[in-house]
Amino acid sequence: MYAVAEAATTAYFGTKVYARGIVEFSNVCTKDCFYCGIRKHTKVHRYTMTKEEILACAEFAYSQGMGTLMLQSGELPSPERINFMLDVVRAIRRRTMDLACESPPFPSAGPNQRDFPSQRGLAVALSLGELPSSVYQAFLEAGASRYLLRIETSNPTLYTRLHPASHSFQARRKCLEELQRIGFQVGTGVMVGVPFQTVEDQANDLLFFKELDPDMIGLGPYIVQSQTPLGKLWLEEHGEESAAKQEANRVALLERTTRMYALARIMLGNVNIAATTALEALDPEGRELALRRGANVVMPIITPQRLRGQYEIYENKSGIDQDALDSTACLERRVRMAGKELLLDGGWHDPPHFVR
Ligand code: SAM
Ligand code: SF4
Repeated sequence: MYAVAEAATTAYFGTKVYARGIVEFSNVCTKDCFYCGIRKHTKVHRYTMTKEEILACAEFAYSQGMGTLMLQSGELPSPERINFMLDVVRAIRRRTMDLACESPPFPSAGPNQRDFPSQRGLAVALSLGELPSSVYQAFLEAGASRYLLRIETSNPTLYTRLHPASHSFQARRKCLEELQRIGFQVGTGVMVGVPFQTVEDQANDLLFFKELDPDMIGLGPYIVQSQTPLGKLWLEEHGEESAAKQEANRVALLERTTRMYALARIMLGNVNIAATTALEALDPEGRELALRRGANVVMPIITPQRLRGQYEIYENKSGIDQDALDSTACLERRVRMAGKELLLDGGWHDPPHFVR
């Protein structure tokens, strides 16, 4: 299975791995997902980066040749936040297009940059949660072109167990459909190994992907956050387990997650699949393993170091004490260790699925 997934990945992308810088610009969230360390009811210092701070991250990503910047945050659908983010998206597009015109830093960049002037500067991807369709439309018009919204689980009953009653599976699904209708390049995904999840749920997650037909998959392991309701439940059940049992659980979850990468690649073919940072909480080489089992994208975190500890959606999050430049250089080495090449040429690198 892993060999077939790797062969399919190589057929579509060769040994190239695409990079998208991710900025976790705010941990303010109005929702209360039972698994998440920045849910409304966890005690954590809340922050929102300023426009200039976000722009500085965008310039950094651009200077490193990343091509895409993903802006991620808790969900806050207030008019102030929406207007602020619309302004930020426009400013990122404008500033990085200006930079591209002043001195194109990547003359050998991929075909996107040479053939499509509209794809100069940084592509902006968003991961801001559920918003009204009119707001998604406004973000597209402001210059964002990609949106990541994990369905979290395709099983509505399991969804209900993982969220408070006010959160709706149907509403989340509808958002994905709206994003596709509006014309975003859409990514979705699930958490693997959440309490109560069965293997049948995972099979149905893959069938859900097949039916939705997204352009990108961003899935990862569930990692405990002990302050959350789900984390507390997990610790009640597993907290006292021996070190050997905990080690066996860790290995099993790594396997269970990378199997989902491999099967997603085999079933969906030419989509982008991101090797999530959360894998590193299970194994320092977790991302490399995912790159050999179907993934073709990495998303280095370039959030300013001083804020990283406050965006701890799960425990043991990697890179909290690393600065962005270090983490990029380190990633390049590690991608090479997986026998692949990190593409830092400023190209947008849409998946063939979306281009077609
Ligand atoms: N608020 C937006 C949303 O929920 O779509 C984006 C930010 S949210 C922190 C991004 C993703 O983090 C979620 O889709 C969820 O899958 C993941 N996440 C949250 N808590 C997690 C945990 N304990 N372990 C692994 N992933 C987690
Ligand atoms: Fe908020 Fe997203 Fe975390 Fe849910 S997963 S609590 S929406 S940040």
